[in-house]
Amino acid sequence: MARDVDALAGRLALELDRRRFLQATLTAAAGLGAGLGVACDARLPVYPFTLGIASGDPLPDRVILWTRLAPDPIQGGGMPDVPVSVVWELAEDAAFTQGVRRGLAVAHPSLAHSVHVDVPGLLPARWYFYRFRAGGWESPVGRTKTAPAEGSLPGSFRFASASCSQYRESFWTAYANMADEDLDAVVFLGDYIYESGLGDLSEDVRLHDGGRCRTLLDYRNRHALYKTDVNLQEVHRIFPWIVTWDDHEVSNNYAGDIQDEDAPDSDPPASEFLLRRAAGYAAWYEHMPVRVLPPKGDSLEIFREVKIGDLLAFFVLDTRQYRTNQQCGDAIQIICPEFPDPNETFLGDAQEAWLLGGLSGSQAVWKSLAQQVIFSPTPFLGQLNFDQWDGYPFSRQRIVDHLVDRDIENFVVLTGDVHASGAASVPLGPDDLDTRIGSEFVAPGIGSSFDDDLANAAKLIFESLPHVDYLDGTRRGYVRHTVTPASWRADFRLVDTARQMTSPIRTDASFVSQAGVPGIVPG
Ligand code: CA
Repeated sequence: MARDVDALAGRLALELDRRRFLQATLTAAAGLGAGLGVACDARLPVYPFTLGIASGDPLPDRVILWTRLAPDPIQGGGMPDVPVSVVWELAEDAAFTQGVRRGLAVAHPSLAHSVHVDVPGLLPARWYFYRFRAGGWESPVGRTKTAPAEGSLPGSFRFASASCSQYRESFWTAYANMADEDLDAVVFLGDYIYESGLGDLSEDVRLHDGGRCRTLLDYRNRHALYKTDVNLQEVHRIFPWIVTWDDHEVSNNYAGDIQDEDAPDSDPPASEFLLRRAAGYAAWYEHMPVRVLPPKGDSLEIFREVKIGDLLAFFVLDTRQYRTNQQCGDAIQIICPEFPDPNETFLGDAQEAWLLGGLSGSQAVWKSLAQQVIFSPTPFLGQLNFDQWDGYPFSRQRIVDHLVDRDIENFVVLTGDVHASGAASVPLGPDDLDTRIGSEFVAPGIGSSFDDDLANAAKLIFESLPHVDYLDGTRRGYVRHTVTPASWRADFRLVDTARQMTSPIRTDASFVSQAGVPGIVPG
């Protein structure tokens, strides 16, 4: 009964919201349309849902639905320069007969005719179906799932973590296999696009749409090219995603407002880097199913918490936008005399304070960082990768000390970036690799390649570290996680090849963290 009343109240609120929203958007669209002499719901001559549909950032009562109208996807989208009405529909069944809600969104040219609809009034831990209509066309039917109720303790939550999908270097056989998994969500850890140039079919399996991304149009076309991949579209269509970015959504190894030290001469000058960053951020926002506010100039705040009841809290981090410059150099280098600088920051003050407060305030059994680069110390023949947390040891130690001081258990770091699978127990620090304070699972990359000649050496070197149990650089794939109140299991799902259009997949290794016992064991 209480549930019925709640549901009714929710529906009434939804209806009021919807009417207010409709009124506001129709007024705005009519004004703009009238000014331009074009109707906001004109028919479109060509199918506009070429980039698919997506959902993400689930809450117990809401989820973001996304699409972008782009009849000519990799040439600017091909839409008229006017706002266009998009009808969205959500239902409890794929035939759209049960509990149907619908509303109107406006696809605006200033956001490349993308829409982010935050559908309210939903029930927790439920699968829903959704679709869009615009210009006389209908999108495919998507499927999404809300988060479990606040305060509830779900028996399990299954998700895949993924990263690093270089289009030129791979067919996304990993996504083709991921679509067959039984998942509640996908967590994407960065390098969704690559800003690099056209490519060369003597090395690459397919080509980019143009040269290196510099302008907003370049980044829009690059996202659109990636989004035309049918395997990627399918995984977006059937699971909600929780997404963060890394460097390649803008430029390799950038740090805050400082561009890559190895940027080619053809890139815009370093003094113009923030303009390029603004373009990359804007295009990312336009193409991701995220619940964040649109970018303001060259800034876009994306760090946020996604709660899976009291089972799991994802702290989705941005380790790019606020970091100080890499010390000693952007990649794997010898340690320079000025290292470490106590003034370095990896997260910036605001995000770090938010994270530390979130970690100590969380009611969740498992506290997980959904982030970009390797957290655990990984010295490499006396050198460090200064682009990773190793390059920012004070920032990392403040998090580790906070966990230890507050007795915060069940800390799990999710990582991407390096195109190699990895599993480690997070140690107390570079000088104590034996005391365990958490676990780290590094996703292998959907398609970005790892140097074959280095794979064996890297395996030998990293697996000889006391806290690292596993490294594989030979194959692409993703990590499938099964989280319960008692344990966290990670299965490394690797495809035989990403250089052909299809591939079998297998579990190469599995590791388990038991609740209350820091670190991992083979599973
Ligand atoms: Ca990266």
